[in-house]
Amino acid sequence: MTIKKIGIVGAGTMGTGIAQVAATSGFEIILNDVGEDYLQRSLKIIDKSLTKLSEKGKIDEDKDKILSRIKTTTSLSEFREVDFAVEAAFEDFEVKKKILLELDKLLAPSVILTSNTSSISITRLGSLTGRPSQFMGMHFMNPVPLMALVELIKGMATSQETFDEVKSLAEKMEKVPVEANDFPGFISNRILIPMINEAVYTLMEGVGTAEAIDTVLKVGMNHPIGPLALADLIGLDVCLDIMEVLHEGFKDSKYRPCPLLRKMVDAGYLGRKSGKGFYDYSK
Ligand code: NAD
Repeated sequence: MTIKKIGIVGAGTMGTGIAQVAATSGFEIILNDVGEDYLQRSLKIIDKSLTKLSEKGKIDEDKDKILSRIKTTTSLSEFREVDFAVEAAFEDFEVKKKILLELDKLLAPSVILTSNTSSISITRLGSLTGRPSQFMGMHFMNPVPLMALVELIKGMATSQETFDEVKSLAEKMEKVPVEANDFPGFISNRILIPMINEAVYTLMEGVGTAEAIDTVLKVGMNHPIGPLALADLIGLDVCLDIMEVLHEGFKDSKYRPCPLLRKMVDAGYLGRKSGKGFYDYSK
């Protein structure tokens, strides 16, 4: 089928970015969240981002024309008209379950439903719906307008037709799709978060200071940012949650979260968003 109108549930960090990128690529968007204030904030963020991209000459079309393709709503009933849906609400199984059950009832039978989850099993989410063969993971990276990668995750029941359709949609959004199978953390977080966890162990054991650890990875391995600075950017609570998912999912001690990571989360040192993590952001 031809996809023209995309429904996005959740107008937070990711839903906002996905709406911006999809609208820039010419799709009509219906963006949903629980409150009007979230939707207005999201539109403001998109407006600001498009203004910057426009000033840099990175978008050809008039900013207001792109914005006019984004409709917002606090009701899911308008999703009856969409040709494709993305769930990007909180990373909480019960929240996602409620949304997916409702969407499954509203969407036309042929419509593909996707989730932007970072860590919840796609097979488990898909099996909640009456369309598991038309359900899959579409894992965008943050910030969506700047990061080209999108991980495409097939659940056990996802059909090849669904995968091909989502891949082609990702390409129309000028993203680079990469296929991943449905295992905890997919590819991105399976590799990235244990690396960060190991950096925290390296710090805890006094092998090096935070600056030394980050410098080794930046200067020695050509990483654009050190693992501890990256943990501060992602949020230490998010890193811990993902380590727990890997540990729980594989039951393998190599994924045990570092006690220092847990202690910092307990202390409220969550990284940039709290003003303190492995580095101090309060000044
Ligand atoms: P966020 O907290 O910024 O936004 C979530 C939004 O969902 C909020 O605006 C919230 O009001 C809304 N919401 C909650 N319940 C809802 C409901 N029932 N109906 C409609 N809207 C509802 O979260 P985020 O960072 O945008 O993450 C969204 C999803 O994307 C999560 O599954 C997360 O794991 C995944 N993800 C996040 C990142 C990241 O770096 N932030 C990267 C990749 C994937």
